[in-house]
Amino acid sequence: MDFNLKKRARHDVKVEVVSLESKFPHNVMIYHFPPTEDVHIDEFEDLALERLRLLRVFDRATTKGLRMMSDDWKEYVNAELTRDGLRGYLRMCSSHSGGIKQEADLQMRRRDYLSHFILRLAYCRSEDLLRWFVAREMEFFKYKFAALSTAEIKQFLEENSFHIQPLTEAQKDEVKDGLYESTVGQSVAKIELLEFYKVPFTQVLDLVRTRRCYLKAGYAYVNTHDLVSIVAARQLEEIERGMQAAKAFINDVEADERISRMLKSLHNSYTGKDYTVCKDASVPIESLDQLSKTSMPLCMRMCHDHIRSQHHIKHGGRMQYGLFLKGIGVSLEDSLRFWREEFTKKMDVDKFARSYEYNIHHNYGKKGSMVNYTPYSCMKIIKEMAAPGDCHGCPYKSLDPPTVKAKLAAYGLSPGAIEEVMFFVTRGHYQFACGKYFMLTHNSNVEPTINHPNSYFEESQILMGNRQKSTRTPGPVQPTNKRAGIRGAANRSMLNGDDDDELWRIAESQEKAYLSQKGIAEAFDDDLDLTQITE
Ligand code: SF4
Repeated sequence: MDFNLKKRARHDVKVEVVSLESKFPHNVMIYHFPPTEDVHIDEFEDLALERLRLLRVFDRATTKGLRMMSDDWKEYVNAELTRDGLRGYLRMCSSHSGGIKQEADLQMRRRDYLSHFILRLAYCRSEDLLRWFVAREMEFFKYKFAALSTAEIKQFLEENSFHIQPLTEAQKDEVKDGLYESTVGQSVAKIELLEFYKVPFTQVLDLVRTRRCYLKAGYAYVNTHDLVSIVAARQLEEIERGMQAAKAFINDVEADERISRMLKSLHNSYTGKDYTVCKDASVPIESLDQLSKTSMPLCMRMCHDHIRSQHHIKHGGRMQYGLFLKGIGVSLEDSLRFWREEFTKKMDVDKFARSYEYNIHHNYGKKGSMVNYTPYSCMKIIKEMAAPGDCHGCPYKSLDPPTVKAKLAAYGLSPGAIEEVMFFVTRGHYQFACGKYFMLTHNSNVEPTINHPNSYFEESQILMGNRQKSTRTPGPVQPTNKRAGIRGAANRSMLNGDDDDELWRIAESQEKAYLSQKGIAEAFDDDLDLTQITE
């Protein structure tokens, strides 16, 4: 055990808390100045994937058609942030987020700030990406701002030079009738206590459009909480200007091939739980026929049916279904037996051994590069272009609508249920279609978020009482050999409680910062200086 290393880490924490408080004084900050610290490439990647998970939560809420800031929207976003292991971000968006800040909260502000700037680099490369990013960032910003107390908002306005002063009592008295009439959902007593600001009406056109403020002589009278319209406009301007700056700078950043590859593929990255190894259960192949009917999503059920009926499946299907089976808990030996029993109905055992066994060992990380391959996510499967005769890919996308309907009917769905699924299929929301199929086939009122066939299977098994719900929060898929060196330097057993994963990430960040400061050659080689991203 390295006691010296632990002591150094604790000392660094104290210093860092002080500096974090001055660097990141608020949960809500205008992203104006690019970060000035060096970031280790591992942390760079972690932050990028974490932010992507965050923005995808807001994206899903939008795709579901929930009205922003409605109770349903908040309930959904909060539940998804919790489910995706983003409790730190959730705390930033909670109305009781004021008070004395703990180290974890300050570290979250740092992560928020850094990760925003990192994603600018990934999302500045096309108009579509840029639009998506800006829209999601603004949703997150507004949600955070809505959680600020009146005192915090005043402080925020001062520190960011908004030059807006609240009305004095006398000024408020002059327009009080207008304020009573135009402030929706507040009692007179509450309105008396609210602060109001007088601003040119052109600064709050969205409030004017939705008749949510009192207008007089070209000025709008806006209460503290509706000030978000003004501050969001500034934030939007900052982000859009920063995106142009990032665009100009992107070629320099991408000179490093590792960064370039990561940034280019970021938007399509899978950010959910890693199903590479199944530790929770073992699934005997004798139960696959039954499981295919009860717990497999359409993409895997079709692969299974194809193998059973044709006794063969092409390479794409073998990869998709073979890795899925590994992820649900089919052992290598059982997997070999399953494929052998089917394939040898059409070929001799020697040919199977020569042509297929190596590939199965390979998927389990036992031959060749010895990489334990990760089961495919929905995003990867949906992108697959299946040729005629292939049975892999996402059927909601790869099959034409009449064929999907016929398949669903063959699998026992009623005409009404089929229409419910097809509603999403025809609009190109394949994962929502899959979620609806799950609800209908499990008689469930809760719509799961489907982003991985293995998560579909797991949810199904949990609902049927065959598996326990995992208490671990999902995190990005990590290549198995990548972080071993750095993780070994800290001691995970020091961390307890629900926020283990979050605290662990922070501990890792500190460890990396320490390595970076000490100028360890390897760490230095991997650094990217974000200060170079200037406007
Ligand atoms: S949405 Fe995902 S799990 Fe569902 S069928 Fe398509 S690829 Fe499979």
